Amino acid sequence: MTFPFEKAIYVTKPLAPDHDKFDTYFQDILESKQFSNNGKYVIELEDQLRKMLRVDHATAFCNGTTALMIALRSLDLMGYVVTTPFTFPATSNVLPWLGLTPIFCDIDYDTLNITPEEVEAYLDIPHTAVQAILPVHIFGNPCDVYGFDELSDRYNLRIIYDAAHAFNTCIEGQSIAKFGDVTMFSFHPTKLFHTSEGGMLVCNNDDLGERIRQLRNFGIKDDITGSILAGINGKMNELQAITGLCVLDKIDKEYEARRRIFQKYILLLNDIEHVKIFSPANTTQNSWQSLPIRVLNGKRNQIYEYLKACKVFARKYFYPLCSDFPHFKHFRNDFPNAKRVSEEILCLPFYGEMEDDVEAICDIIKEA
Ligand SMILES: *Cc1c(COP(=O)(O)O)cnc(C)c1O
Repeated sequence: MTFPFEKAIYVTKPLAPDHDKFDTYFQDILESKQFSNNGKYVIELEDQLRKMLRVDHATAFCNGTTALMIALRSLDLMGYVVTTPFTFPATSNVLPWLGLTPIFCDIDYDTLNITPEEVEAYLDIPHTAVQAILPVHIFGNPCDVYGFDELSDRYNLRIIYDAAHAFNTCIEGQSIAKFGDVTMFSFHPTKLFHTSEGGMLVCNNDDLGERIRQLRNFGIKDDITGSILAGINGKMNELQAITGLCVLDKIDKEYEARRRIFQKYILLLNDIEHVKIFSPANTTQNSWQSLPIRVLNGKRNQIYEYLKACKVFARKYFYPLCSDFPHFKHFRNDFPNAKRVSEEILCLPFYGEMEDDVEAICDIIKEA
């Protein structure tokens, strides 16, 4: 083998807090003994993120999946929800937990997202009352948010966006958080901004913001009234929050590094005809979450295996499709674009510290 790395290279490497800052916060928590229940660090993190994303309500959660469940619950949905088969399992797996049934629809081959046109075909099917759609801004590439707004007006649909990959995504200068009824972010360490585990819901509706907060905390309204909704425990704790506050200090530098690495990959992979780097439209600010490539000659798996043999662990995000999971297989699952995409896409290692490794990784891909 030509390019053995001494250490394994994974698809991402999470940002780590500055030790001194983390320690100061940590000591403070140990002294105050407030580990959870809407402590000051969770409140501080929510404040900062609300300002950053320019939304009215930002509510922090223990993880993104629980946040997504509570988003769906907060809208009191029943019946069917149209969503994408090309995503992480969390997106569609939460639906049965809420008694909801997914209707998968095909994605657009170029954007990798579901589109208003594709979704609309499912809205008039007899006996299926579709009340909501759950699109994903996959790899941080925004969905047609204006088209979905228009569709939701016409059919009276709720929109819940899974923005797990899209923390830094802006469209024409506006944060992706602005769109839809509710937007979910994941702060898992595989995501660029993280809180060790964590997630967040944002919205611009006061009543909904209030319901989301109550549902996050057992449905409790206040000490006197008690629980008024069938809420669960979705709270972020203080240790997660201080991780997030420390990681926030580092993300601007990380964006810059990833921007350079992205350019480097483009340059180095440019002359391989069967490899195309996926990048969002130019009206969009990249989330710098992932680095997906398309392998167009049917050799995606071969490249994946060869990289692995060289200790480079790329990921086949997202294969298999959610519509092929055993628990969803009785629904429709013939989606030609999604199927093709899931067999072409490979996510390459992408994180600030890897700048010196890009060249060797690209050489391995050339050799595969
Ligand atoms: C990471 C991810 C989630 C789930 O987030 P967790 O915080 O790990 O629960 C949901 N949807 C997508 C598309 C994701 O990539």
